[in-house]
Amino acid sequence: MPRAVVTGGSGFLGSHLCEYLLNRGYEVVAVDNLLTGRRSNISSLEGRDGFTFLQHDVIQGIPVEGKVDCVLHFASPASPPEYLNLPFETLDVGSIGTRHALELAHQNKARFLMASTSEIYGDPLVHPQTEGYWGNVNTLGPRSVYDEAKRFSEALTMAYHRYHGLDTKIARIFNTMGPRMKPSDGRVVSNFLVQAIEGNPLTIYGDGTQTRSFCFVEDEVRGLVALMESDHIGAMNIGNPNEFTILELAEKVRDVCGSDAGIVFESLPEDDPVRRRPDITLAKSVLGWSPEINLTEALERTCKWYREELAQAEAK
Ligand code: UDP
Repeated sequence: MPRAVVTGGSGFLGSHLCEYLLNRGYEVVAVDNLLTGRRSNISSLEGRDGFTFLQHDVIQGIPVEGKVDCVLHFASPASPPEYLNLPFETLDVGSIGTRHALELAHQNKARFLMASTSEIYGDPLVHPQTEGYWGNVNTLGPRSVYDEAKRFSEALTMAYHRYHGLDTKIARIFNTMGPRMKPSDGRVVSNFLVQAIEGNPLTIYGDGTQTRSFCFVEDEVRGLVALMESDHIGAMNIGNPNEFTILELAEKVRDVCGSDAGIVFESLPEDDPVRRRPDITLAKSVLGWSPEINLTEALERTCKWYREELAQAEAK
């Protein structure tokens, strides 16, 4: 049974990754300091054979004993409001934390998968974004705490490959949605769904003409594990290339939730990327992977989870 260590294992993506790996026959050790992750995300996994949770901050090291076959480094605040609120934790986990995760892989001669991001492309001047594009990041802007931490993580990951021969993969993850993204996360899909369900106006930042391309979490995790199990070295975009304006997303959310909530326009955050869409030619050709779930189905399934989550919170 291969043994995987997932840092950030009780976060939104990390918890789905742990579940998928367990179902695939892996033994899984989830490591998380619960700064932005939630224990409730893994409550259905705790008690399952082969699953262990270790509450620990990867900035302090990763004290996992025994053989390790793969390390998947997903620990980091990921929502813009959260990483802007936790700038030093974000920089540390993307530098010191990444170093610890890479060392663990190196000592075990394990595979390494780095959770990178479309944010490394910044406000992209090339559209759609291919892996060969170097990006357009404002190093002095507020988002740089996340963007540069992830860019540094990519550099460190490639250095471990070049100097230590480590088997390293870098997933550039584009906007992802699904159950377990907490209602207070602050990203656009969770904000809109909570607002629509509660009958509050949807908050559009800027004029809503900016674009994003949303992937359902099940598609995303299937792509991530395919990349981890492949022979590919280096970066690969894993995301859904169907691109929507934020105004279109708001309309779709209202349709799916059957909500007549209004819309309010608020100011656009500094350095908010104007458009974003992955070119997934590489993932298609190397992994034979592409997303299967469209925006409507993704929103329907996510909306169902938020209704249950909000009802439970109210009942408490
Ligand atoms: N956004 C919005 N309303 C919200 C939250 C976000 O209009 O309540 C916008 C945000 O300005 C950005 C897009 O939606 O243009 C996606 O934001 P998100 O925070 O989900 O992630 P990002 O892609 O910016 O990392």
